[in-house]
Amino acid sequence: MEKKLIFSIDLGGTTSKLAIMTLTGGVIKKWEIPTNKEENGKFIVPNIFRSFEATATMLNLKKDQFLGVGMGAPGPVLKDGSISKAVNLGWMDYPLKQELEQTFSLPAYVANDANCAALGEMWQGAGKGLSNLVCITLGTGVGGGIIVDGQIVNGTSGGGGEIGHMTVQHHDGFSCNCGKSGCLETVASATGVVNLTMEKLNSEKMTILRDIYEREGHLTAKHVFDAAKEDEIAREVVDQVGYYLGYALGTLSTILNPEAFIISGGVSRAGNTLLDAINKYVDQFAFPPTSKDTKLLLASLGNDAGIFGAGFLVKQQS
Ligand SMILES: [Zn+2]
Repeated sequence: MEKKLIFSIDLGGTTSKLAIMTLTGGVIKKWEIPTNKEENGKFIVPNIFRSFEATATMLNLKKDQFLGVGMGAPGPVLKDGSISKAVNLGWMDYPLKQELEQTFSLPAYVANDANCAALGEMWQGAGKGLSNLVCITLGTGVGGGIIVDGQIVNGTSGGGGEIGHMTVQHHDGFSCNCGKSGCLETVASATGVVNLTMEKLNSEKMTILRDIYEREGHLTAKHVFDAAKEDEIAREVVDQVGYYLGYALGTLSTILNPEAFIISGGVSRAGNTLLDAINKYVDQFAFPPTSKDTKLLLASLGNDAGIFGAGFLVKQQS
């Protein structure tokens, strides 16, 4: 029987997305299970396998129809498919590829989750048909994935493409989880947008954001982008976010000359308000002869980018 199915996994700290896919990117079945992190994450792989087996049986699929298993995992992935450190899963020097291969008795391929999302957008999303692109996920943090000539830039120890930790505030920046301060993540993630806004609330200027903060006890990035049409402080924050992202993307454009930047994550729901703010500044920092060749696009796969990318890890070996 011809092997043409893929089992793909987007491993998350709370839930894991699972899918059975075809080599051409068709989704046969997609579901989620909770991630059991007890005892340093030793149940994670066996639980996923049991869920996969039960679903395959229910769909009347045989293991010899599967080419392999692909997984996107949070944390840096080394060349041998091991994870050096995934704090929220309890994994330290965890031989993930090996565990998957032993448990599933199938070839397994592993990549960092942000890199997987980038591969997913290249295979079936906004970057379909492209082979040089940079994906930026603006969520609780800022994730990045760089693809050059169809290959993820993984780096020596799995830290390639950590765009969220480019320093964009060179003095007095907000401190970042990574140990530095002034990282892109501290000003362009959902939390970062709120960081910038809270700073402005200290001024005397009138703003509806202060009213929202006093009424609801907190602010979100959505409050800020929604208010930007009519509120000067909100507009100033959006402009700052655009500046920092414009700086980061313009610099990446100079180094990589990609076909596209693809923006995803919760903050990207601001759509054109965000894209316009980035476009206002990106050319100031990009190499002029080639900057016009780079498109700025919104991602199209949403939360499914990771499972498509995990599927692509298997597909690209076939
Ligand atoms: Zn950082």
